[in-house]
Amino acid sequence: MQIYWVPSPNYSSGRRGRKIIAIVNHITAGLMPGTLSWLRNPAAKASAHYLVTKAGDVYQLVKDEDTAWHAGIINRPSWSLYDGSNPNYYTIGIEHEALAGESLTEPQYQATFELHCRLVKKHSISVDRNHIIGHYCLDSINRRNDPGPGFPWNRLFNDLARSDAADSSPKIIINTGNNNINGFLKEDRAYGPVREIAIALGWQVEWLNETKTAVLLPPPDKDDSKANAARVVIASQSLAVTILGDKAFAPVRQMAEAMGYRIDWDGETKTVRIT
Ligand SMILES: [Zn+2]
Repeated sequence: MQIYWVPSPNYSSGRRGRKIIAIVNHITAGLMPGTLSWLRNPAAKASAHYLVTKAGDVYQLVKDEDTAWHAGIINRPSWSLYDGSNPNYYTIGIEHEALAGESLTEPQYQATFELHCRLVKKHSISVDRNHIIGHYCLDSINRRNDPGPGFPWNRLFNDLARSDAADSSPKIIINTGNNNINGFLKEDRAYGPVREIAIALGWQVEWLNETKTAVLLPPPDKDDSKANAARVVIASQSLAVTILGDKAFAPVRQMAEAMGYRIDWDGETKTVRIT
């Protein structure tokens, strides 16, 4: 992705020693090229670090290290991390070229997704609703439609959770005999995607969305001696299940043992074998 540098005079140098903790998404409620020139006009007294256009171009107006003026007046904020000081100092602002109520174009979505990936990685920003927010979280009255109902929050969070940008935890492989599945280590535990592992082992998976519970049904020809349960229930409340994007991840050992399998850990290849 190419980022075009188009400096705006509307910024403060540095960040008063604050660390960047969040991204604030906006819509411009205006179109190119006027919206870009406005953000570079001293009379606007406003800016953003980035502007992502409908064509999928990314313009950078203010360096990440400097403070852009995008937060505006804070008015009945809902942001849990707002500490009473000016959020400009600890956030990055991304404007999206769109009129009120419009959603993003596909090239625009792809560009902002890639930009989010870069920023999340570069500044170690957590991928969740507290660290990637909309302007309405800072002003729930006058900015309640910024970036508005067309903004693809679910898609963005799902895609970010699936991308490696979001997850800096060490990667592992889960081997089910025929399949290698990607997992990760967290607090010395191996985690793997519940559905993929179960299916690779020949089990069926039913997902009960209301209770966030996976019910695993063994294959009909499964050796009785191995099947210590007719079905295995993986509830998001138990087993330290973690939901990332739209996938449930469970500790591999507990899951495999509940299904009647054994696991071996090969530290050299960082592989968990399920047998
Ligand atoms: Zn805004």
